[in-house]
Amino acid sequence: MLHKPQARLIAGLVLATCALGTVTGLASLKLDQAFEHSAHITRDTTHRIEITLRLQKLLQRAVIPVHHYHIEGSSVQREHFALLASQIGDTLAEAQEPHDGAHPEEFAEIAASWQTIRSQVTAILAMPDPNAGGLRAIHERIHGLDVQVRALSDQVGLLHDADRARTRSQLASAARWNRTLTRVVLGAFFLTVLSLLLGAFSIMRSQAVLRELSMRDALTGLFNRREFQARLEGHLDQARRHGQPCSVLLLDVDHFKVVNDTYGHDVGDRVLQELAGLVSGVVRQTDVVARFGGEEIVALLPDTDEHVALVMGDRIREAVAAHHGFSAPDGTAFRITVSIGVASFPSDAPREDALIRAADQAMYAAKHSGRNRVARRPA
Ligand code: GH3
Ligand code: MG
Ligand code: MG
Repeated sequence: MLHKPQARLIAGLVLATCALGTVTGLASLKLDQAFEHSAHITRDTTHRIEITLRLQKLLQRAVIPVHHYHIEGSSVQREHFALLASQIGDTLAEAQEPHDGAHPEEFAEIAASWQTIRSQVTAILAMPDPNAGGLRAIHERIHGLDVQVRALSDQVGLLHDADRARTRSQLASAARWNRTLTRVVLGAFFLTVLSLLLGAFSIMRSQAVLRELSMRDALTGLFNRREFQARLEGHLDQARRHGQPCSVLLLDVDHFKVVNDTYGHDVGDRVLQELAGLVSGVVRQTDVVARFGGEEIVALLPDTDEHVALVMGDRIREAVAAHHGFSAPDGTAFRITVSIGVASFPSDAPREDALIRAADQAMYAAKHSGRNRVARRPA
């Protein structure tokens, strides 16, 4: 059983745990997507870079057949060039495919420049003897082609560099996002564990509070009768085992009805609270003080024989009689007295119930002999 604030705290923690669990789940899902996104960027970039590198390599090889044709005059170079031109065409088409971060205008320009180079190369390869117009003329034409091809390859190189730079920044921002999500997941997980621990701690604390409450009397804060009974059994067992004495003092307020009737029940209640404090202040820490019922208080004094118990009882009686802290609603102080019965193990009784009975009889003896006194059971 939990009391209200505890129940509210636990309900709050359950809600918080559910919310944090949801955040952890969603963030983990997002993290998964983010990792997949990073992998996609890497795959895509590798592909783009591979295309530009391939294109650069093919362009650099494009004029080699012309050089060979100029030296050897072999028609096989036309086939070599046709093959290269077709590979360059395919690669350019691949590079121009619509794509995130594609460079359509730049590649259209590159394709146009390539067409110019291609027609110049085709024209040279179509000449039956390229050197017929003079060596200087053909050298200049080939050199012109080399320059154009190098420029085109450099242009492709710039796009390649731009792709790499773009990828670097994309990967950096993906990594930042991944880090943030990882922190969210870890943070939410940590808070979930914390709220579970708090819940467990709160339940344990409330159990401890309830355990303590179940032992206590609500008005005076002393142990209740059930707890007293349990502790009496334990102490008597111990006393029996070790051959030690053990005493009980049973205290009853004299004419308590008069207090209630004169000052009201609330004042009566406060008297009982004050009295509980007084008795607890006189006995030892190890003694057990409990509210026995109504305006009766009982004290268990372990390892105490009847002589010492009588002395202790008298100290309590005196402390109560001398106390002027009891006050009426109008502020006037009044005094009370108590009658105390003493019974000891083993001299008065061998068992718990007999010991309580003996203390009760002793208390009545104290009443009958004039109240405000301490007595043992009459022989
Ligand atoms: P006696 O000297 O013979 O003991 O006289 P008494 O008036 O104390 O007589 P008795 O013990 O029979 O009456 C006890 C009274 O204590 C009766 C009851 O109304 C009152 N009482 C019992 N419990 C409480 C309590 O918790 N608060 C208050 N204010 N009064 C209580
Ligand atoms: Mg009584
Ligand atoms: Mg009484």
